[in-house]
Parts: sequence; structure tokens; C-alpha cells
Amino acid sequence: MTNRASIDVLVLGAGPGALAIAAALGKENLRVEVLSASSHKKPWPYTYGIWGEEVDELGLEHLLEHRWKKTVSFFGSGAAESKDEANKATEHGRDYGLFDKSKLQSHWIQECEEFSVKWHIGLAKGLEVNQTISTVTTESGTKLKARLILDATGYNPIFLKSKKDWPIAIQTCYGVVGRFNTPPVEEGQFVLMDYRCDHLSNEEKAEPPTFLYAMDMGDGLYFLEETSLGLEPPLTLEKLQSRLHQRLTHNGLKITSLEHEELGLYLPMNMPLPDLKQPVLGFGGAASMVHPASGYLVGGLLRRSPSLAKAIAIAMQDEKASPEMIAREGWKTLWPKDLRRKQALYQFGLEKLMRFEESQLREFFKGFFNLPNEQWYGFLTNTLSLSELVKAMWTMFLSSPWNVRWGLMEMQGRELYLLWQFLKPLN
Ligand SMILES: Cc1cc2nc3c(=O)[nH]c(=O)nc-3n(C[C@H](O)[C@H](O)[C@H](O)COP(=O)(O)OP(=O)(O)OC[C@H]3O[C@@H](n4cnc5c(N)ncnc54)[C@H](O)[C@@H]3O)c2cc1C
Repeated sequence: MTNRASIDVLVLGAGPGALAIAAALGKENLRVEVLSASSHKKPWPYTYGIWGEEVDELGLEHLLEHRWKKTVSFFGSGAAESKDEANKATEHGRDYGLFDKSKLQSHWIQECEEFSVKWHIGLAKGLEVNQTISTVTTESGTKLKARLILDATGYNPIFLKSKKDWPIAIQTCYGVVGRFNTPPVEEGQFVLMDYRCDHLSNEEKAEPPTFLYAMDMGDGLYFLEETSLGLEPPLTLEKLQSRLHQRLTHNGLKITSLEHEELGLYLPMNMPLPDLKQPVLGFGGAASMVHPASGYLVGGLLRRSPSLAKAIAIAMQDEKASPEMIAREGWKTLWPKDLRRKQALYQFGLEKLMRFEESQLREFFKGFFNLPNEQWYGFLTNTLSLSELVKAMWTMFLSSPWNVRWGLMEMQGRELYLLWQFLKPLN
């Protein structure tokens, strides 16, 4: 009897990925425990953004701290444009929100507790999987047994393995929350991407492009973040910081009170897919669920956790199912073939964007946000079907100017491999 698990699933981690899946598994009446390096109540370090329609569809709009109706981007400042044209905003016509991260965390914790999820603190270190059971050993030597281990330990997963290994493109940002001598964005405005670059010299324009992500937080506070979409090796924090200050100075802006500085944020954008035959399952950043075009994850966690939990519960109805068999069923649901094909297309797209010079990038995004609203929204939230995604990308290609089309056609680096994965995905 000592080799029997009293736990169905042991979830590793306590970030958004772990809590989302632990809550969903609890709802399936599975016996769930969570092992995390620190308390599951420890505040999360990041701020999570999401499109309004995504939270509305999930019925979770009450978890937002801020919601903007005036959502815009700027892709102007080509040499041939007049000043007015260059400063013309692309209006998105969609709400955007920021989660109240402590409310989001409490929401999942409350759901977990409703379904009697148990919490452990400790660093997972060792793993043993046999025909009937998996055992995790913590750094302090405690052993926890479960029918399935679900690794949600973030971008450097402790146990998950990928089939492929490649250099990872990293999104980096430098941000400030503060008060300014004059408002850096219009009242009530949210700026998804400001790619205007008239504050840069010609030499600087030839360097990797960056954009400003900015918003009016109310009460005279603003959040401004200089961002590099994704690069390998990543753009340094110093570079982003100096770019932000250059932008501010050019626009006659001064920080009068610095309330918070976001330093060294580091987001892997194109992690390879996990090996779908391993006996451990994954979720969240660990399982490559970050959207390679946007870096977003939370909407996907909320949409994908119920179906994964159900698949695990069904697989566990067979009392003789091994951890490997259960994990296999989970991976099939988390990464079905069409989703893997879409992921290859998204990663292919990111490769292209990383190679684009500043003017190509601005032209590309101008065209992208000219697509029908539902199409670009579906692209960014990963809610298009495979054929709809292909159609959106093809429309984008056909409507692009020649310098962008040429950049899209020229195959370099791992792009051919990714196209092959689109046609015939691994696993
Ligand atoms: C700067 C930044 C901004 C982002 N902005 C957004 C956004 O606006 N919207 C959005 O949707 N997404 C955003 N993301 C992406 C994504 O939502 C976050 O990265 C998210 O935190 C990933 O969640 P996770 O649970 O997979 O991993 P993490 O949040 O990294 O959590 C990992 C957990 O595992 C634990 N752990 C690690 N190792 C072990 C171990 N050996 N044993 C036990 N526990 C362990 C850690 O303590 C932690 O609790 C952003 C990411 C970054 C980096």
C-alpha cells in the first residue's frame, strides 16, 4: 500500500499557470495538491494585461483594476509623412484591461480552497515515475506521491523537456510608474504600441526597434514602458532605459515623481513545444503557452484550463492508467495538432518581425491593425481557427507594401523549419 498515491495531481508552482490549473482540476473533483517554492499567497511580480472582450467572455470583468476604452497605437514617423500624419493614432476600437493581480490570485486561491486543494511549500528537486505513480522529492527531502505531476514552474521548468533546443527570443522592457510635468498620453488613453521614432538618430534607427507601451492610470499617474518585442540575444535594460529617457526628453516630458520602476523584465517568446510523450504534464509558461506574437498568457490559461482538467479527469477514471498514459491524454488536449500548427506559424511570424528594420516594422503593424477588427483580435488572442489564421496572414501578406512582402518571403534561420512544422508538426 505504501506505493499508492492519495493525491491525483501534484501541481508544481504557484504562479497564474499553477493556480489556474489547480482550480480547474479541483472542479473536476480530483484530489489536488500544490507544491511551490514560496507561499501561494506571495504577491506576483508582474502586471497582467488582457483585452476587454476576453475577460467579458469569461465573466471575469470584476477582476480588472483598470479598463480603457480609448485604445490606440502609433506607427507613423516615416520621412515622407507630414507631422500630422506621423502623429495620427491607429484606433483599436476595443477595450483593454489590467487585472488587479491580487484579486486574480485570490480568485483562483478561493476556487482551489472551495475544492479542498492542499498547499505545500518546498522546492521540487527530484522526480521518479513508475508504472503506477510519480514521486517528487523536495530540496529538504520530503517525498510527495501523485498519479500525475503537473509542472507549472514557469519558463525554466524543473522537470519538463522539449524535443527541440534553440536560442530563445526574449521580450525585455523597462518601465516607470510616475507623475509627469505634462501628461505623456491623453486622458483615459491606453497606448498598445507607440513605434514613433523621430527621437532617434539615423544610426539609432538602424538598431533593433523598440516601442512604448503606455497608459493613463488615473489620479495623475501614468505607466510608461519601453519594450523590445523579442530579440535573441535580448536588448539590454540600459538600452531600453536610455531609449525611454530619449523619448521623454524629445517630447518635453519630465518625471516629477517616480512611484515605481520595473527593472529587467524578461519574457521568453518562442519556447519550443514540450515533448508530448513525457510522463509529466505541464501548464503555463512551462508548457510554452505564451503567445509568441504578444507575450500574453493569462487569457489562454483561463480558456484552456477547463478542457485540460476534464481530459485528465477522464484519463484517471481508468485506475490502471500509468502516469505516462494520463500525461499523454493531457498533452493531446493541451497541444492538439491544429494548435501546434498555429504555434509554428506564430513563431514563424515572430522570426520575421525580429529581422525587420524599424520602417518595415511600422509598415507591418499599420497593415496588421488594418485587418478587420475580429481578425487582428483573434490573431492576438489565439482564438482564430487554423484556416482563419492562415487567411489572416495571407490577407496581411497581399496587402503589405513590397518592402514588407519581400521581408516576409526571404527565408532565414529556423524559418523553413517552422514552416515545415506548420505542415507536419512534431510529436
Ligand atoms: C514582464 C512580463 C510581463 C507580462 N505581461 C503579461 C500580460 O500583460 N498579460 C499576460 O497575459 N501575460 C503576461 N506575461 C506572461 C505571463 O502571464 C507571465 O509570465 C506568468 O507569470 C507566467 O505564469 P506561470 O505560472 O507559467 O509562471 P510563473 O509566474 O513564473 O510561476 C512559476 C511558479 O513556479 C514556482 N517554482 C519555480 N521553480 C519551482 C520548483 N523547483 N519547485 C516548486 N515551485 C517552483 C515559482 O515560485 C512560481 O510560483 C508577462 C510576463 C512577463 C515576464
